[in-house]
Amino acid sequence: MQYNKQAENTHVRKLSPMTPLSQSFEAYGIQDLQELLSSLKQPKFRTKQILEWVYKRGANSYEEMSNIPASLRKELTECAPLHIPEIKTKETSIDGTRKYLLCLADGNLIETVGIPSETEENKSINQNKRLTVCFSTQVGCAMQCAFCATGQQGFTRNLLPGEIAQQLCIVQKDFGIRVSNAVAMGQGEPFLNFDNLVKALELINSDEGLGLGARRITVSTCGITKGIKDFGHIPEQYTLALSLHSAIQSTRDRIMPGCKNISLTKIRDALEDYYSHSHRRISIEYLLIKGVNDSNKDIRALEDFCRGLHVHINLIMLNNVPDSPFKPVSEKTAANISHQLKQFGIETTLRNSRGSDINGACGQLKSAVTHI
Ligand code: SAH
Repeated sequence: MQYNKQAENTHVRKLSPMTPLSQSFEAYGIQDLQELLSSLKQPKFRTKQILEWVYKRGANSYEEMSNIPASLRKELTECAPLHIPEIKTKETSIDGTRKYLLCLADGNLIETVGIPSETEENKSINQNKRLTVCFSTQVGCAMQCAFCATGQQGFTRNLLPGEIAQQLCIVQKDFGIRVSNAVAMGQGEPFLNFDNLVKALELINSDEGLGLGARRITVSTCGITKGIKDFGHIPEQYTLALSLHSAIQSTRDRIMPGCKNISLTKIRDALEDYYSHSHRRISIEYLLIKGVNDSNKDIRALEDFCRGLHVHINLIMLNNVPDSPFKPVSEKTAANISHQLKQFGIETTLRNSRGSDINGACGQLKSAVTHI
């Protein structure tokens, strides 16, 4: 493997036993922060100032916030201590992708990936580079998808809104360029952490926070129907992605055992409901797994599932996961399937994965240790 692993930080982090995580700054969404500051008799503009320090300027402590009165900084340190996740290790892929192992205040570890890319015309100017961040929404994951490394790790806890949004700040700071796209495709099932996810998206999207356009933010789910429907009622133009991977119930149950009690019919109904409220096109993620979901029958079932829905299919080449029995299809098979779907009239993209040499690609996020 060609990568260069850097240990950034080696000391063990521990939350003071006096401060439960639920009282840290990271537990606050925009509205919550407004309420906290108003209870501390602060003028309205303080919320904006503090959000700017954390989410725009990447402050690591209240002390850095020079336009905030010292007395308030002290108060906040006591009632809502700031715990920006620390980079524990960083691995850089030959294609420029960087995978970060981040340590949270309670010692739990999560992974975040930064994927840079540039369009041909911008290569020389070093400007308008794209930087996509693949962020996590939970420590581990409960869904146990058979092809996914995170699934093998099990579930530990939900991430707080700040812990989700700050992943973007960390990557942005490390690359020295602004995040242009964000995908909730790291560890965890976003819709099993719905409320914190939505607060995090507000921090990411709002002008006072990171200011990233809603259309550039994608949330991917394995098919939590309540989450899909509720997401359709959110006015912001976020994109929804469904990790479908098979439109045949028995096959899906086998490769995504955590979704067994969510039928494809219910998922399809939820997508229709989502579309009827949001009118936003849905991305369907379909991993190509040799001998599992790549036959004519599988692709016809996929076409049937998509019929009448406004969707875009992303075909994904399976990435290698250690000890996994699953293998990717050949490039020829992938191209044939892509062609067949397009002929059927479905917009389809064959996605090439980035960062696979550092296990930083889709489905490869599994921290060697989950807690220090
Ligand atoms: N739980 C959510 C979010 C995680 S997204 C979801 O299921 O959508 C992770 C994405 O990576 C999903 O589309 C998932 O199906 C995909 N993935 C998982 N394992 C993979 C692998 N081995 N190779 C390529 N993609 C994989």
